[in-house]
Amino acid sequence: DSVFSQIAKAPEDPILGVTVAFNKDSDTSKLNLGVGAYRTEEGKPLVLNVVKQAEQKLVNNPSRIKEYLPIVGLADFNKGSAKLIFGADSPAIQENRVTTVQCLSGTGSLRVGGEFLARHYHEKTIYIPNPTWGNHPKIFTFAGLSVKTYRYYDPTTRGLDFKGLLEDLGNAPSGAIVLLHACAHNPTGVDPTIQQWEEIRQLIRSKALLPFFDSAYQGFASGSLDADAKPVRLFVADGGECFTAQSFAKNMGLYAERVGALSIVCKTSDVASRVESQLKLVIRPMYSSPPLHGASIVSTILNDSDLYNEWTLELKAMADRIISMRTQLLETLKAKGTPGDWTHIIKQIGMFTFTGLNAEQVAFMTKEYHIYMTSDGRISMAGLSSKTIPHLADAMHAAVT
Ligand code: PLP
Repeated sequence: DSVFSQIAKAPEDPILGVTVAFNKDSDTSKLNLGVGAYRTEEGKPLVLNVVKQAEQKLVNNPSRIKEYLPIVGLADFNKGSAKLIFGADSPAIQENRVTTVQCLSGTGSLRVGGEFLARHYHEKTIYIPNPTWGNHPKIFTFAGLSVKTYRYYDPTTRGLDFKGLLEDLGNAPSGAIVLLHACAHNPTGVDPTIQQWEEIRQLIRSKALLPFFDSAYQGFASGSLDADAKPVRLFVADGGECFTAQSFAKNMGLYAERVGALSIVCKTSDVASRVESQLKLVIRPMYSSPPLHGASIVSTILNDSDLYNEWTLELKAMADRIISMRTQLLETLKAKGTPGDWTHIIKQIGMFTFTGLNAEQVAFMTKEYHIYMTSDGRISMAGLSSKTIPHLADAMHAAVT
């Protein structure tokens, strides 16, 4: 008998499990709107042109080596990442009060940041929005923090519950950590306006809460890297401290390369250097040092003005295609006379639309139309094309009538 015979079978991950079910379906009209990965109009995964060019440059470099990176990763990647999110002229960077460490994509950055806080910060509670990306509560719980939620989404308006958000953060204990989606909130696609961000900032600073930004979609929401970084920059501009976890999975299409960065903005450069020394002690026993390839690609693109400019165009093209899927889906539903108000499809932003369809309607659409999505009714707009929108609209129409 196996020493493991008592082990129970674990459930599939609620998000990745959608793809498992999709792969088992043999129907030719099947459609996977579960995954958070960009697809072309032809439904194909996309490797950006600038990524191919950067890889060529790397391969052609005769002095290329594969020695270990330092614990904190590739220096030029870290500098470039910090400039990308905080702005090239950020006083925090110029004053040397930011520490940036390369981590394993957004997930790894959140985890390293969480473990650092659990070890060194006096307040162990982190407030995450309700709802949020399904991995957030697990990442922070395993990091050793205690997870609570704040109100975020209002199902009646399919928009922001701003009053609830302010109330809940207002009632949080002084010093508590607050997880904020920098842009393109997952799963709702609902972001605060810049005026609302300013109110959130004032509340957070007045209560000495600690903001922790999750920036998984910079440039992917609006198509502009600077516009999508505005909320983060608003917080950095006031001179206060904050955490930022960056991912290059979506905006550079580097999903499997696992390339991201954790930046901690501190009050002084002395604090930043002590914080960094402790981050190393978190990382070393976890995975020693991060991988080279993906970070080299990003660093090559961020530090070459031609590649950088080309990247911004390719990024905007992805964002624009997603936005055009939103208008097309709304127009198709309107033309069909599908009951209900669907304008939230174009009001929401980023990779996902939170349709408002319930678990029963989702199950119906999967069973009858072979359309796969998470049971909370979240659909990936990046997985749609002009060809598949009519099929989705048919299914949505049937689900609500
Ligand atoms: N945070 C949010 C809100 C996300 O949606 C994702 C990806 O789906 C991530 C972080 C991290 O992704 P990755 O670890 O692939 O960078």
